[in-house]
Amino acid sequence: MLKIKDLHVNVAGKEILKGLDLEINAGETHAIMGLNGAGKSTLANTIAGRDDYEVTKGTIEFMGQDMMEMEPHERVAAGLFLGFQYPVEIPGVSNLNFLRTALNSVRKLNGEDDMSAAEFMKLVREKATHLNMDPDMLKRFVNVGFSGGEKKRNEMVQMAVLNPKLAVLDETDSGLDIDALKTVAEGINVQRREDTAVLLITHYQRLLSYVQPDKVHVMIDGKIVKSGGKELALELEEKGYADVA
Ligand code: ADP
Ligand code: MG
Ligand code: MG
Repeated sequence: MLKIKDLHVNVAGKEILKGLDLEINAGETHAIMGLNGAGKSTLANTIAGRDDYEVTKGTIEFMGQDMMEMEPHERVAAGLFLGFQYPVEIPGVSNLNFLRTALNSVRKLNGEDDMSAAEFMKLVREKATHLNMDPDMLKRFVNVGFSGGEKKRNEMVQMAVLNPKLAVLDETDSGLDIDALKTVAEGINVQRREDTAVLLITHYQRLLSYVQPDKVHVMIDGKIVKSGGKELALELEEKGYADVA
């Protein structure tokens, strides 16, 4: 699904990722844990294909394709979903319109017709209900005036509707109360299947009590310095990064 080799990335002329290796197979959920400034968001932004992230060395393969050759929208069309720490607010665009546009543009890039309005509404209502979102929120402008927890819940509804192959979630758990955290976990867990993969990027092990990863990686200073099973997350929490790595 995702194969990263010796990835070096510069941001504003400074090297932030310094030789990162990571391989995630279909059916797997991985967690990357690291302190602030380790380069976790830089990795997420690089996978997204954001402009300011300059890959100076190494390779990223996604679904067997060279990711560096793919535009950001082509990555999304191939099945990439990115959830960010601070979801954007889009005044003037309703959640429903946003979702329909996103879904249909992905379908179009894959040579499929638009989903009918009726079919779309059925899909969105089903996903919203499943994730305990008040259907009225679908009519509101994207994330405008939403609480932190509502934004994350909204992001999980977006993910469920788009049904990606690979979901990369950057600190999607930060600042959530326990109910919102459980909703996020539920959203992630329904996305875990034999043909999908999930990469959770997180600072704390809290979320990992609800979404049990197959593998945990420790990131320090732009590199993965240690990998292990889910017990590694608990060890990190207990002993701290300095002792574990
Ligand atoms: P993390 O997500 O692990 O907290 P980041 O990837 O956000 O780490 O940041 C890693 C390092 O890169 C930090 O030292 C940060 O200051 C720097 N950095 C990130 N984005 C930028 C940017 N747009 N301009 C300059 N420096 C940046
Ligand atoms: Mg940070
Ligand atoms: Mg970050």
